[in-house]
Order: sequence, then C-alpha cells, then structure tokens
Amino acid sequence: RDERKTLPIYKFRDELLKAVDEYQVIVIVGETGSGKTTQIPQYLHEAGYTARGKVACTQPRRVAAMSVAARVSQEMGVKLGHEVGYSIRFEDCTSEKTMIKYMTDGMLLREFLGEPDLAGYSVVMVDEAHERTLSTDILFGLVKDIARFRPDLKLLISSATLDAEKFSDYFDSAPIFKIPGRRYPVEVHYTKAPEADYIDAAIVTILQIHVTQPPGDILVFLTGQEEIETVDEILKHKTRGLGTKIPELNICPIYANLPTELQAKIFETTPEGSRKVVLATNIAETSLTIDGIKYVIDPGFCKIKSYNPRTGMESLLINPISKASANQRAGRSGRTGPGKCFRLYTSYNYMHDLEDNTVPEIQRTNLANVVLTLKSLGIHDLVNFDFMDPPPSEALLKALEQLFALSALNSRGELTKTGRRMAEFPLDPMLSKMIVASEKYKCSDEVMSIASMLSIGNSIFYRPKDKQVHADNARLNFHTGNVGDHIALLNVYNSWRETDFSTQWCYENYIQVRSMKRARDIRDQLEGLMERVEIEVCSNASDLDAIKKAITSGFFHHSARLQKNGSYRTVKNPQTVFIHPSSGLAQLLPRWVIYHELVLTTKEYMRQVTELKPEWLVEIAPHYYQLKDVDDAGSKKLPKGQGRAAL
Ligand code: ADP
Ligand code: MG
Repeated sequence: RDERKTLPIYKFRDELLKAVDEYQVIVIVGETGSGKTTQIPQYLHEAGYTARGKVACTQPRRVAAMSVAARVSQEMGVKLGHEVGYSIRFEDCTSEKTMIKYMTDGMLLREFLGEPDLAGYSVVMVDEAHERTLSTDILFGLVKDIARFRPDLKLLISSATLDAEKFSDYFDSAPIFKIPGRRYPVEVHYTKAPEADYIDAAIVTILQIHVTQPPGDILVFLTGQEEIETVDEILKHKTRGLGTKIPELNICPIYANLPTELQAKIFETTPEGSRKVVLATNIAETSLTIDGIKYVIDPGFCKIKSYNPRTGMESLLINPISKASANQRAGRSGRTGPGKCFRLYTSYNYMHDLEDNTVPEIQRTNLANVVLTLKSLGIHDLVNFDFMDPPPSEALLKALEQLFALSALNSRGELTKTGRRMAEFPLDPMLSKMIVASEKYKCSDEVMSIASMLSIGNSIFYRPKDKQVHADNARLNFHTGNVGDHIALLNVYNSWRETDFSTQWCYENYIQVRSMKRARDIRDQLEGLMERVEIEVCSNASDLDAIKKAITSGFFHHSARLQKNGSYRTVKNPQTVFIHPSSGLAQLLPRWVIYHELVLTTKEYMRQVTELKPEWLVEIAPHYYQLKDVDDAGSKKLPKGQGRAAL
C-alpha cells in the first residue's frame, strides 16, 4: 500500500476521480511508470464504479494484460481471476466475481459481438492508446458510438505520449488530464558510424556497460523471440569466460510467448552485487514498467506488419523505429535516477532517417478480419465509419473482395450465413472459413486440430543444437507419405492425443509440450464454438483429400505453381516465392501447392505447405479461379535433380 502511494499518479487520485465523475470521456496522459495502468482501475473500484459494472482496461499486448492483472491482484490481495482477471484470445482468466478486467483490445472488440452496448461495464479504459493498434482504432469508433446512448458509461483514453490533442479532438474535445511523471535526465549516446550488425553491437555494448559502468540494470530492445534467444545464448557463453572478478549478469528475456513463470523474473529486484539485463521486445517500450533500469540499449529496429493491398500480401518485417519510439525507449532509463541510452545508430540517422511517428496499424494491414467483425455488428457503411485515421480505401476494398471470395459476404456486401458463422471464430477469416467448410467435407475434427496447430505459430518442433539429426528424424516421421505440412501437424496432434497427451511423448519426439498444451486449449475452445454455429464434430481421417479440400476452401488465395527453376509463382498477383526449408515438401517440390503464410527472410518463403490438385481451385472457388488460371499445359517437366525421389 505504501508503495502505491509513492507513484506519481497518487497525488492526483482525488482530482482524477472528480474529473471522471464530471465528464463522460477523459484523455489521460502520463509518463510510463506513473501508475496509469495499475492504479486507475483500482481507484475506480475504490470509488464504487465496480458496483455498477466491470471496469475494463485494454492493452495492445497479451503479455501486458496478463502481467498487469497479476500485479494488481497482488496489490489488492486477491486471487488472480477472481476480483481481478484478464482475458486474452483463447484464455479467459476471469470469473463471476471479476470487477477489474484487463484484456487485449482485440478481446474487447470481440465482446461487442455478444454485448453490443457493453452493458456489463461501467468504465472502459482504452490504455496505451498511442500504440494505435488496429483493434484500438476500431474500439475508438465503437466506444464513441455507444457513449452517446449510454450516458452512464465512462471512457478513459490513456496514452504515454504527449500528443493527446488528437485523441481529445476525436472525442469531441474531451478534457485532457495530465499526470506529470518523474523524469531524470537521460544522456543519449550515438554510434559514430552505422553498425553493420546490430545484434553484435548490442552484445558488445551490454558487456561494455557491465564491465565499465556503475551498478544499474540494462534494458535492450530487440525485435523478436529469435533475436532474444540468440543474444541470450551468446551472452551466457561470453560471460562464462569473464572470471569471478566481474559481477554476475542475470539475463532476463521477455517476449509474448515466454512462459508466464519466466515472465515474472523481469520484475524481481536485482540482488546486491549483480546486474540484470532485460532482453525485451517492444513490450518494454511503454506497456511494462521495469524498475531499476539505468541503461537502455536501442538498436533502432522493431518488427512491424506491412500490407500491400494491391497483391494482398502481408508480411512482418524488421523496420527502423520512429523518433517517438526512440524517445520512449530512451526514457525507460531515467525513471528512478539519471540514465544513459545507447543508440546503435548515428545521430544523423536519428535526425534524418527516422519518421516522427509510427504509421497506425489500420493503414498498413489486411482489414478482412475487422471488416467481418464490423459487418457482424451491423455496421455496413464502412466508408463512413468514424475512423480516427481512415484506412486506405484500396485496403478496404480488398478486404471486401476477399470476404466475398470466401463467401462471407454476398454481392451486395451483406453478411451471409457462412460469414455469420465465420465471425464466431476468433481467427483470421481464412482459418475460420476452413473450419466452416469442414462441415461440407465431414472432417471438422481434423480441421479443428489443424487450425489450432496453425494458430500457435512456429513453436511446435524444437531442434537442440547437439541433437539436430535426431530431431529432424523425429519430425520426418510425421511426414510419412509426403502428406504435406498441414497433415503433418494433424499427425503430431493426433499422435499426442493417442498417448493421452503425454509429456514424455513430446520429449521423445522433440516437440514443445507447452505449445501442444496451448494447441489443445485452443482446440477445446474451437470445439465449443462449433456447437454455437451448429457444425457437427465428425472425423474423416482416412480421406486426406477431403481435409485438403477444406483447407483449400479457406486458403485458395494462397496458391502457387512450380516454376522451371524450382521456385514458385503465386497464381493470382504473380510473385516469386519458395518453399520454406523447414517444410516436409521442401525437397519434393510438388507442381501445385497451397500455403498458410509467407515469411520474408532471405527470400519470400511459404510456410506450412500442402500439395494441391489444381482442379480443386476451380471446383472450390469458381468465382475466383477460371480454368485458364489452373491450366497446367504451360508448365514444363521438372529440372533434373529436383524430382520426387529427393526426399
Ligand atoms: P503506467 O501504466 O503509467 O506506465 P504502471 O501502472 O504500469 O504505470 O506501473 C506503475 C508501477 O507499478 C511501476 O513503476 C512498477 O514499479 C510497478 N509495477 C507494475 N507492474 C509490476 C509488476 N508486474 N511487478 C512489479 N512491479 C510492477
Ligand atoms: Mg501502462
């Protein structure tokens, strides 16, 4: 309790509550760490708002929602999931008792589907508004709308950046409540020349700080799990050789898929005489406050999604950050005392190359999912929807086209029965279409398993450095018969299910048990939703073509045809792509394939690939493919050495 009183926001508690009482919408601005996320919902609870309905607090990131809920339940001395809970996709940790609910912005968006006026809530706090995620931007429009006919509903829009006028203007000149933060001077250092390899440079900088600088923890911003694991490994190796004169360096990674037990580690106070280095994704920029950071290392990059509405291709790319991000990152070092920020780029770069602000996600993403959600909320006129920054009309049109091709919308742009069923699933429209289509092919059991496995991403198999051959062999077992990656995922799931979900089995097969458990949870939820959309769960395991046709029903946009040189060409919007080396079909090179996603590394790779019969495209999506698209006569024999015998 005493600690709560030391937070900058505490002095403004009464003033803030008075403002909430007086105004329906308030924009709140305060430095990261001032106590917005953890304290405001508690103040509202103490002031009695939760007696009238829940307090929702949205976060752009899953990890933040979980971690903050855990912290607040601790502060209130209640069990997580009781009075204080969180809700993220596929994981609902709330109960009847829950009064303060932290949730991802995407989850609140989905709650509109079941409760369009959010009747169960007395306050909605859209937190981290400056992040401008797609879901947050859509929430703005929706909450602004319901506030008109629910005068009792309070809206708080909170942001860590100081350009709050835009939010205020959007919400009809809502008052801005500023919480002055504590801020100590931060010394910013740039590199003299551009760094060739920022990972390398980051490691060198960490070690230099550790060896030469006074006590204080280090925070390093990296772009994703893979980079964090690489740096973690190299650091462990290098510090082993430093000898006993150098203090201990505790390495704490934090990223979205890190197991919850390990996430807590970043908040532990560093023991006297040692130093902590936190390797974090963008999550530590404003979403999570870590105390004791004195040094920030900023390589200047983050992963961002970009979308080309012309081709319909979406990719996750490593991009330079904006000036606003760079300043946020630097600020993380000056919270508890003077800090230092080491930018691994030149001051010229900063001045001339970085954009002022990150482009809002709505302007660089595929909108199919959002359009489907809005349509199922009865919002038909998307062009006149009250967007803070409207998406490019080309992207909106592309989304409508895609949903039409998936038969989710009819030619008048209205939701079809298929579309209504699809909207029930918290998945991308292509995945939900695949599930809905499984009814026709009588293989919903298999397709749900595949969808769940695809939803957990790329973390099913692991490949320890010293046992790569074993791991690869174990993995090949699931590909017997060259069934393709989707069916291989199904084989993994079913084999695990047959062992009664054995952990030992996962070890023996080099499969991450944590990912499998997550897949099982997701699958359980999908199965629950099947009942809602009245699709019978039935199995058709022996008919692989039926399963592949169901997959094709969702993913026919993602078809590609083999070229003479072993590359592939996507059928619509032709582009050269390759089968990812991790695919079971990488050596086999079937003439026609369908893929789950494209990832750009050294080349544009298709990940999760299955062989396809071209006539299926015309059969399944006749409005999208004509015979001439799939006419096979033009393609030549395979070049030597790249034949079927290769696997
Ligand atoms: P804001 O939302 O304004 O950035 P927060 O409410 O997230 O601020 O954080 C306020 C303070 O609460 C931080 O300074 C931090 O010390 C503490 N805090 C937040 N989350 C945790 C946690 N999981 N463990 C320990 N301390 C935390
Ligand atoms: Mg916060």
